[in-house]
Amino acid sequence: MAMMHIGSLEMQLNRKPIKNLHISVLPPDGKIRVSAPEKMTDNAIRMAVIKRIPWIKKQKEEFASQPRQSIREFISGENHYLWGQRYRLEVIEKRGNHKVIVSGNNKIKLNVNPGTKLKNKEQVLNEFYRRELNDRINTLLPKWIRKVGKEPVFIGIKKMKTKWGSCNTQEKRIWLNLELAKKAPECTEYILVHELVHLLERKHNENFLMYMDKFMPTWRERRELLNKLPLSFSDWRY
Ligand SMILES: [Zn+2]
Repeated sequence: MAMMHIGSLEMQLNRKPIKNLHISVLPPDGKIRVSAPEKMTDNAIRMAVIKRIPWIKKQKEEFASQPRQSIREFISGENHYLWGQRYRLEVIEKRGNHKVIVSGNNKIKLNVNPGTKLKNKEQVLNEFYRRELNDRINTLLPKWIRKVGKEPVFIGIKKMKTKWGSCNTQEKRIWLNLELAKKAPECTEYILVHELVHLLERKHNENFLMYMDKFMPTWRERRELLNKLPLSFSDWRY
């Protein structure tokens, strides 16, 4: 992995078989990653990065000023998010089936057997998020299939590190990020529509934007909402 320095900024440089240079500022500490086309000269890369320095600095400042999700321990009192709302976790250790109950509008109760390991607690909670997201998708899908006029063959949910959603346009397969269950519901709807629109237009071009504006005029506001707190990652591509 090559490192590159510009002034006080240190960045990781990856050369890849891509057409355009791409800069990412990564959480949690604002590490900079530059992906550049294989044939681009060092000098051209430096010039391109220098032009983006104000943007890079702004990104780094945002990371520094944002509270972010700390490492989860799955203990009582911890904050966890569901549909953009913050909840307090209450861990109840007793014999029986593992389950998650939303209690009132500020508490998530996690029932687990005494001595349950952290990893298993996380898994129980993830299964809960998966059901929540799945229910939401099933509710939204018929309306949007009708509006967009395209139907995916498959929609799945999984944890993804750098994407909110993805669409294989040839196989008509869509994946949505499990983390969406933690964001406001409008965000899940936006990502779902974004991926469905890929069934009409593969690329993020003018045509794609035209469809988005037509089907969901509020998509920009929703995107902004999606990238607000709590920050789990920001190198969003979808
Ligand atoms: Zn996309």
